[in-house]
Amino acid sequence: MKKTGKAKAKTKVIKKSPAKKAKAASDSWPLKRNVFFKPQRMKYVRKLEKDEGCVFCRSAKLDISFDSLCVYKSAHSQIVLNKYPYNNGHLLVLPLQHIGNLLELSPERYDDLHRTLRIAVEAIQAVYAPPGFNIGLNHGSSAGAGIPEHLHFHIVPRWGGDFNFFPLIADAKVVVETVEQSYQKMSQYFLRGKK
Ligand SMILES: [Zn+2]
Repeated sequence: MKKTGKAKAKTKVIKKSPAKKAKAASDSWPLKRNVFFKPQRMKYVRKLEKDEGCVFCRSAKLDISFDSLCVYKSAHSQIVLNKYPYNNGHLLVLPLQHIGNLLELSPERYDDLHRTLRIAVEAIQAVYAPPGFNIGLNHGSSAGAGIPEHLHFHIVPRWGGDFNFFPLIADAKVVVETVEQSYQKMSQYFLRGKK
C-alpha cells in the first residue's frame, strides 16, 4: 500500500515524546493511534488486498456469519465487525458496492448507507450502552483510510477514559472481549429482531 511510508512516519511523530503521545491519545480519533499504524497490520491489509481482492467485497458476497464478520445486510449496505477493533463492539458500515467516493454513490445507495449507519448505532446502543461514540469516515488514503477503494464508516463505542490512560502506560488497547464474543452479542441482537 502506498500509505505505509506515511503511516510509519506518523508513528514516529506520535512516539517522539510522552507529551505528544499523551496529546494524541486525548485528542485524536482512534485511527491515528495503535492498531491502524502498527506495521504488522499494514502488512496484513496489503496481503489481503494482494491475495484475496477487496476484503469488504469478499465479505459482501458471503452470508451473514462469523466468517464474513457480517451481522446485518440491507439492500445496498452491510454492517460488519472490525476484525481489529479499537474498542468492544467496533462496527463498520459500508456499501455492498465497491466504491471509494461517497459522491459517486447513487442517491438510493447513499440513503441506504445512512439508514444502515443508524441501525448500527442502535445496535451498539442496545448491546453495549456506551455513553459516547466515534462515528466517522476516512475518505481517501490521505485521510487515513486503510482500504480507500471501498468506503466504510467506523462506529466506535466510547467510555470515558478508555483510550486516554491504558494505552499510555501499556501501549495496549482496552478491548476486553474477543471478536468472537462481540460477534455473538451483535448477531444475537439482530437475530432477535433488533429488540
Ligand atoms: Zn470492495
